Amino acid sequence: MTAPRSFQQEICSLFGQPVAENPTQYMLERAFQHHGLDWRYITLEVSPENLADAVRGMRAMGFRGGNCTIPHKVAVIEHLDEIAPSAALMGAVNCIVRRGDRLVGENTDGKGFLTSLREVTDPRGKRVVLLGAGGAARAIGVELALAGAAEIRVVNRNTDRGESLVELLNEKTPTHAHFVLWNKAYSLPETTDVLVQCTSIGLYPDVDARVAIDLDTLRKEVIVADVIPNPPATHLIQEAKQRGCIALEGLGMLVNQGVIGFKLWTGVDPDPAVMRAALEEVFA
Ligand code: NDP
Repeated sequence: MTAPRSFQQEICSLFGQPVAENPTQYMLERAFQHHGLDWRYITLEVSPENLADAVRGMRAMGFRGGNCTIPHKVAVIEHLDEIAPSAALMGAVNCIVRRGDRLVGENTDGKGFLTSLREVTDPRGKRVVLLGAGGAARAIGVELALAGAAEIRVVNRNTDRGESLVELLNEKTPTHAHFVLWNKAYSLPETTDVLVQCTSIGLYPDVDARVAIDLDTLRKEVIVADVIPNPPATHLIQEAKQRGCIALEGLGMLVNQGVIGFKLWTGVDPDPAVMRAALEEVFA
């Protein structure tokens, strides 16, 4: 074995709180190794009071970028130099990219979802039902609208959050959005092309929790996506497959957003299969 010529690595980071159970590092470091890149991705617990210092630290130490997660996705914006257009619309950043000496905020959650969806259909002109109105729903709703979805129904328990997403979509994008209060099992309109489950229902360890929809209204023509990455085959995904629907698992979306971040930081197109295998190992 020959000694390396340089002992200085390129660094990416993840800031969040709590963050220890987030498996992004495992997935990305596997891909760095696979592509022969001497890069590291470090998972760091950062409190809201320390966020400004943490971003200053990123700059001072020349980090190449990274991710931020709860509770920093909105608060980080004021510490960055530039925000990419769709992230600015959502008002949330989950990915930071260093360009020269500038830190640019991106949002890859919705883009990762779109990569999965585009493998099975073109979102243009589609009528979509979004369950949920939190961070994931905002990211996915904005990207679907910018990709030409004709109609988006936001079905949510909390009225303020649901209406705020509908207002954003109607004011800032060309789609037609409607709010539906989710206080009983939701019946899908017959015109639905795509159903996207964007709530945290069914996330491990709460794997038996069921999404309140009337499954008799789930036709086999509807494409069903669930954002829950763990377990990949949620109850909804299983029901959709039994009805003959095309079903998109949240694990695929999680891999795809990692693929986009990897390319933004390194310029290299990573092998998604390597990243998926790493996550499957973690979730097994
Ligand atoms: P938020 O906390 O921002 O939003 C949660 C949403 O779920 C809200 O709309 C909330 O409704 C709804 N919700 C939660 N519990 C229930 C319930 N019992 N009944 C009805 N609605 C409910 O979370 P995020 O949007 O950031 O994340 C949501 C999920 O998406 C997480 O599980 C996360 O793991 C996953 N995710 C997956 C990604 C991937 O790449 N696969 C990427 C990002 C997130 P209300 O407004 O009424 O409270």
